[in-house]
Amino acid sequence: MLEITYLFNSGFLVKLGRTALIFDDYMDTAGSVEKALQGCDEVYIFVSHAHFDHFDSHILAYASQTTKYFFSQDLHHTKRAKSFPQEKIIYLQKYDAWENEDIQVQSFDSTDEGTSFLVSKNGWRIFHAGDFNWWHWKGDTEENIKLARNGFMKQMKKLDGLEADVAFFPVDGRLEEFADAGAREFCRRTQVKSLVTMHSTGFPQWQPGEDFFAADKKIPFWVPLTPGESRKIEKGGEFKE
Ligand SMILES: [Zn+2]
Repeated sequence: MLEITYLFNSGFLVKLGRTALIFDDYMDTAGSVEKALQGCDEVYIFVSHAHFDHFDSHILAYASQTTKYFFSQDLHHTKRAKSFPQEKIIYLQKYDAWENEDIQVQSFDSTDEGTSFLVSKNGWRIFHAGDFNWWHWKGDTEENIKLARNGFMKQMKKLDGLEADVAFFPVDGRLEEFADAGAREFCRRTQVKSLVTMHSTGFPQWQPGEDFFAADKKIPFWVPLTPGESRKIEKGGEFKE
């Protein structure tokens, strides 16, 4: 069983037994990570890119318990990354991979800074998009709108057929009616078994429209609202409180 706790923005704690996987924890007002770490033997921290809403130094407080950090390459030159225990950091380029007997991590490109991650641990596959999304800003120039589309579609080609038990993907309300365009395309073209929405600025109560999921590919989804909220999920199952 996987237990997922919403931290904030794109921040999540994923617990697998006594293992904690922490993604893009920039703010954790409910103190979920600190509470969870008491019962954990392995702690992996992932940061998809250096933007303030994905990477914050407060995660340094968990350093003594952290097994490894997986940082996207763009963190390498930041001041903040220098204060972390360097021997525990694995920097990942785009389309990189790292593994040992405990964990496998693959990275993909983003349409913003940094990477997205595919993590395999104890038979589970977890995809965290970072800021990879179809960033269609309505007020933008025609050229930028086209660039955003092309960048997204180019990257989607690499993700076609991707298999994962759960995917964290942005549905950002600032994009208005295009908020879920990226997530929609992603769910249709991959084999993800469940979806958790994130980066939901201005759109905390998103619900998929009639044609969001392909008819033969309806999957369980969770739209987290409040920091500290959590759900459990079994393989191929629905999210449960
Ligand atoms: Zn962001």
